[in-house]
Amino acid sequence: MATGFVWHELYMWHNTWNWAQIFPPSLTVQPGEHAENPETKRRFRNLLEVSGLYEQLVQIKPRYATEDEIARFHTREHIAHIKSMSAENGGDASILTPFGKGSFEIAQLSAGGTMEAFDAVITGKVKNAYALVRPPGHHATADVGMGFCLFGNVVIAIMHARAVHKLGKVATVDWDVHHGNGTQSGFYSDPSTLTISLHQDNLFPADSGGLAENGEGAGKGYNLNVPLPPGCGDGAYVAAFERVVIPALYKFKPELIVVPSGFDASGVDPLGRMMVSSEGYRKMTRLLMKAADDLCGGRLVMSHEGGYSSMYVPYCGLAVMEELSGIRTHVEDPWAPLMANWGQMDVQPHQAQLIEQAAKLVGNIN
Ligand code: ZN
Repeated sequence: MATGFVWHELYMWHNTWNWAQIFPPSLTVQPGEHAENPETKRRFRNLLEVSGLYEQLVQIKPRYATEDEIARFHTREHIAHIKSMSAENGGDASILTPFGKGSFEIAQLSAGGTMEAFDAVITGKVKNAYALVRPPGHHATADVGMGFCLFGNVVIAIMHARAVHKLGKVATVDWDVHHGNGTQSGFYSDPSTLTISLHQDNLFPADSGGLAENGEGAGKGYNLNVPLPPGCGDGAYVAAFERVVIPALYKFKPELIVVPSGFDASGVDPLGRMMVSSEGYRKMTRLLMKAADDLCGGRLVMSHEGGYSSMYVPYCGLAVMEELSGIRTHVEDPWAPLMANWGQMDVQPHQAQLIEQAAKLVGNIN
């Protein structure tokens, strides 16, 4: 069965201005491109085309999420705030999140693109899907945008699927190098949504994403953080999947698995200090697909989050798309020989120790 893909050129027109603008006013930072700029995603999409894979994917047309749909998660004040700034010359959603004129509508298209990917998978039009949307969403909370995110695309899409398709249990597996705090906040007391985030410990947001954040009330046990130490390579990530993520999924038995997908845990990312290779992302995708096949008819949706190496993100993205579609292209990762020589790609004792601590939390899922 086919793999769906969401893309729209307008995603690339979301203007994040330049780096200098996000620091306090001074003449000490030379103006230059914001880390969250279109290039990384555009090159990901372009490599899919050059590899020949793009034409074999089912193109899913995004739509604009309505304000009512966005309001299933966000406050009306937050929506109005972003909308009014976007209608003028843009602004900053809070910290580190500058945007330009028209970004409100592009953010609607980003949430709507993720919703369309959900619809296509849930209705059986495709087996699985990847939404290459922008702006990203996993840091946005109900009343504020942050960390380059305006609206919580994945949270909005899950709430949409609940309302429209009567979808039951959903699991999210966030492999972006930063904590998926927004997704966590959307379902923190909800036992029907298992939110899992693997991330570099205390990277962003500060003091967020620790082991102790395990859900509250009826949702106690249904939020699972794996705050990995810096320097984790493929070995640690695969171990975290085998010891924590996959057992948690089998215990929870979701009807749909969703991945807020960031490639900023890669070994060459400017905003993270991990060492995952394209092969690591390939292995994690394979493990999730096996779980999805066993648990929910293969239903798996990924929605794009971070990833800031314009040279490397395309190869991580292609590896994931090859696995999702089952189509291996002729493209080899040109970085693979270099990364094969890096030390500590295998799981290290201090990494395994943290993973075992997180594994204990799987027992809290009923
Ligand atoms: Zn990130």
